[in-house]
Amino acid sequence: MEVRPTLLCVHPHPDDEAIACGGVLARTSATGGRTVVVTCTGGEAGENLAGIDLGDEDLTTHRRREMADSIAALGVDEHVWLGYRDSGMVGTDDNDHPDSFHAADLDEAARRLAAVVRRVRPDVVVSDDERGTYGHPDHIKAHHVTVRAVALAADPAAEVAGEPWSVPKRYVHTLTKTRLWQAHTGLVAAGLASPFGGADIASPDDLPFGTPDGQLTTVVDVRAWLDTKRAALLAHRSQIGADSFFINTPDDMAVALFGIEEFVLENGTSGSLDGELEDDLFAGLSAVPRTAPSDVGRGGPIVDPVRFREVLGRFVTGVTVMGTTVDGTPHGMTASSVTSVSLDPPLVLVCVDRSAAMATEVTAGGVYALSFLADDQAELSVTFADPDRPTGHDQFEGVPYRTATTGSPVLDGAVGWVDTRVVGVHDGGDHLIVVGEVVDLGHDPVRRPLAYHAGAYADLAERA
Ligand SMILES: [Zn+2]
Repeated sequence: MEVRPTLLCVHPHPDDEAIACGGVLARTSATGGRTVVVTCTGGEAGENLAGIDLGDEDLTTHRRREMADSIAALGVDEHVWLGYRDSGMVGTDDNDHPDSFHAADLDEAARRLAAVVRRVRPDVVVSDDERGTYGHPDHIKAHHVTVRAVALAADPAAEVAGEPWSVPKRYVHTLTKTRLWQAHTGLVAAGLASPFGGADIASPDDLPFGTPDGQLTTVVDVRAWLDTKRAALLAHRSQIGADSFFINTPDDMAVALFGIEEFVLENGTSGSLDGELEDDLFAGLSAVPRTAPSDVGRGGPIVDPVRFREVLGRFVTGVTVMGTTVDGTPHGMTASSVTSVSLDPPLVLVCVDRSAAMATEVTAGGVYALSFLADDQAELSVTFADPDRPTGHDQFEGVPYRTATTGSPVLDGAVGWVDTRVVGVHDGGDHLIVVGEVVDLGHDPVRRPLAYHAGAYADLAERA
């Protein structure tokens, strides 16, 4: 079964998906995840800020086309209109419109959204925070509707279409005081209009909104998708006036302002084991999207690859066979870029070539074991490194192994082994850095390890 980690983002208006979550949506789509956006209202109370010529079209119809362009730019798989009317800013007549989202019955709106949640079965749901980020009534409502919908979706007794689905992680997107302060001071210093006003803002505490930094749980680096995020934003052409800081912010400042997205995990277990900030919404989930190649080194290699191998070959490593399992089918691959990372929690890492089948298998399986080969197992190292080896069970033909706690294969005769659950998949250029938390391990005190050095197997006994 194909495992596509799924991100569902709930936003009150067309354009909020690009502003608040454009980076994580683009990143998830680009790395093989599935993305779904729900927009609660049609943005009926918005104005044609850019003063563009709409021809015969009304603004609401036009904004639907803008929304479709934004969704296409972000590579979002599915877009859903929840069907409410924009409530407008606080104190405007739009607040009292009978179809307004703000006036909608909470449970009724939550049941609509819960039906989407049950059908989509997302791993991660993101919405506004309880303050509605900057206080717009639709943004506040979107938060409460999402919280209620996630609860209803999981409740077997709820009157909602579809099978119950319990969302593993629910987040709110947010902006910390520190980040807003950086934006404000940066814009002012550059002689640009700050959305927070002028000189009366003397410290981060004077900002009209913003989350205290200590509440933050997750920061996602979306710099590699900044152009995509910007394209989605610009798709909402009627909403971006000439004075918008979204288009006027200088490039270097835009990277700092829009190149990271901040979140607070409100339901579910953090994928960060040591209280550090998560760097991925899918952290700790068994299905994590693969990260795309970074921009690092895009200007061409500074170092000759042959020389790189030659020099790094001077570093003596052991040799392991990495094994994972997807729906009961084992997969194996020789791996020597393996490191012990942390004792508490017990973490190891293994680097996997992005083009290797293992890259797909381990991210889908969410588990792996490493068998440290013994000095009489060099042949197995060759077998599991052969690009033409069979796949699945067949590659273990004649190879004695057992199944560890996570279901991953551990080879008999190894000098040591660890069995792990994937807690992070990170960008490592043309490789993925796959971090696993060790859940079980063992070793053979008698056998000797196989060592690898300068492209050949080395006998440690000879040198002892
Ligand atoms: Zn909005």
